[in-house]
Amino acid sequence: MSILNESLSGRIAAPYGPPGTPLARDMLRPQDGRSYVAGHRSPALQYVTIPQLLRQTVARFGPRDAAVFVAQGVRLSWYDLDRRVDQLAAGFLALGLGRGDRVGIWAPNRLEWLLTQFATARIGAVLVNINPAYQRAELEHALSLSGCSALVLARGFKTSDYLGMLHDLAPELAQAQPGRLVSARLPQLRAVVVTDDDPGPGAMSFAALEALAGPAQLLRLAAIDTTLNPDDAINIQFTSGTTGAPKGATLSHYNIVNNAAFVTDRMRLTETDRLCIPVPLYHCFGMVMGVMGCVTKGAAMVFPGEGFEAEATLDAVAAERCTALYGVPTMFSGLLAAQSARPRDLACLRTGIMAGAPCPVEVMERVIAEMHMSEVTICYGMTETSPVSFQSFTDDPVAERCATVGRVHPHLEVKIVGADGAILPVGQAGELCTRGYSVMKGYWDDPARTAASIRDGWMMTGDLATLDEQGFCRIVGRVKDMIIRGGENIYPREIEEFLFRHPQVDQAQVFGIPDPVLGEIVCAWIVPAPGTAPTEEALRAFCQGQIAHFKVPKHIRIVPEFPATVTGKPQKHIMRARMQAMLEG
Ligand code: AMP
Repeated sequence: MSILNESLSGRIAAPYGPPGTPLARDMLRPQDGRSYVAGHRSPALQYVTIPQLLRQTVARFGPRDAAVFVAQGVRLSWYDLDRRVDQLAAGFLALGLGRGDRVGIWAPNRLEWLLTQFATARIGAVLVNINPAYQRAELEHALSLSGCSALVLARGFKTSDYLGMLHDLAPELAQAQPGRLVSARLPQLRAVVVTDDDPGPGAMSFAALEALAGPAQLLRLAAIDTTLNPDDAINIQFTSGTTGAPKGATLSHYNIVNNAAFVTDRMRLTETDRLCIPVPLYHCFGMVMGVMGCVTKGAAMVFPGEGFEAEATLDAVAAERCTALYGVPTMFSGLLAAQSARPRDLACLRTGIMAGAPCPVEVMERVIAEMHMSEVTICYGMTETSPVSFQSFTDDPVAERCATVGRVHPHLEVKIVGADGAILPVGQAGELCTRGYSVMKGYWDDPARTAASIRDGWMMTGDLATLDEQGFCRIVGRVKDMIIRGGENIYPREIEEFLFRHPQVDQAQVFGIPDPVLGEIVCAWIVPAPGTAPTEEALRAFCQGQIAHFKVPKHIRIVPEFPATVTGKPQKHIMRARMQAMLEG
């Protein structure tokens, strides 16, 4: 325990030294003109489990706010959270679950999600995050691949009837005893827990699970704690490539605890901060950078609602006096529009993170100017690296803070390689590879795809990036997205940034489609700014004489919105397919 105390209190006391220490930042430059950077070696990595970290925070900051769920009307102190987590963890034990068992969670941002996250970790069970947008086949794949023996689910969300879909997959539920399901299609699934008071046949309510345990299970918790290992798998998250079924990226306590700490270190978050988390909990952005990030500092988490809504998010920031706010770029675009339409007092805000997809410079500049987020940072990462590997410092010059994803995180190495795997000179675009503590354990039960993605410890991200002399990184596209038109390499990001300067463009996505003559040609999809109606001709004219002719999109379509994942990542492969169909049809 003393080692734990020392390492945790040490890092809280002195995360980075005073901001702007030039020597420290100098160390993050590439050496010898090669696109290779290594992060600081301090503060030290923490070799602890999630429950150990939570208990430290409870001990330090017990009566302060831990979590506020605005839409649910719930407010918990760290003491409250700790008690509820222990009660639920004991309930899982009473269900017969233990270390290594997989527990699915299929719900939007609700208190039950948070409790399940910590309660599973408390007994060493592996939390399996199921995307709230999944439908029947995806649910079946997720539960089967990971072999979940329990599933905690909301009755439904938006237009999805979760419980109905589960009954379709496991009709045996209608006759089952709660906790004793035997299903042909989901043979591993035993227990179904619904996050409301009317679970229906075969399932148990969340409240019943919380009340299930007696003193025997509660007393076992302390002993279980000593058996857990920071390297144990603790979380599975599904990541989709553009082909193949989703893969289960498997993360350990060690992966998550350390990344969460470094992310919030760089924002200079402390126990006096209050972080607004409108991003989904099922993704690393919510559960690692948000939830675990707050636990590492004792900061309060504020969840505005079950899913993202701009109005509710701004209201929560103002009412809860949040000092930090997370979002993907499209969320920030929505927040800026909502704030212009009905300004709130956002003077409480200081910092936050924009991440998850390319962050347009103009949106960053407006977030700094109009939302008081003078210390906003950009993060870059992926689920497989727990997730963050690059982040700006809060005091990086605004130009770098808006146009790059910042500099490498502590204890990580990053290199940019060409198609032959060799490190490229500084400034050249190639595939970004990350190595270090944050690289996942692997894809669950899929050694072949794990081996294809991690080579010599390096996670091959599939992202195209450049490093500059200072060590700032720019993400210029996906390896597979790079357009090669008549032999010219074209990075969609550059054209998107340019189109974005047009006052009638709210969002822009650029991609290539096959062309018999040139190999590929450039296409753009545009979401217009509210109340405007840009034309294809006007946008093309805007490009003429400003960007090289081969970069000017040959086909432009104005669309109301992009096909996107729940986290707001635009899906270019879908746009590409639709565009080809439109042109052929
Ligand atoms: P996910 O695993 O869902 O977090 O998705 C990771 C992918 O999101 C990365 O491989 C990048 O393609 C993209 N991404 C994340 N952050 C950024 C960023 N700041 N700029 C550009 N792309 C990003």
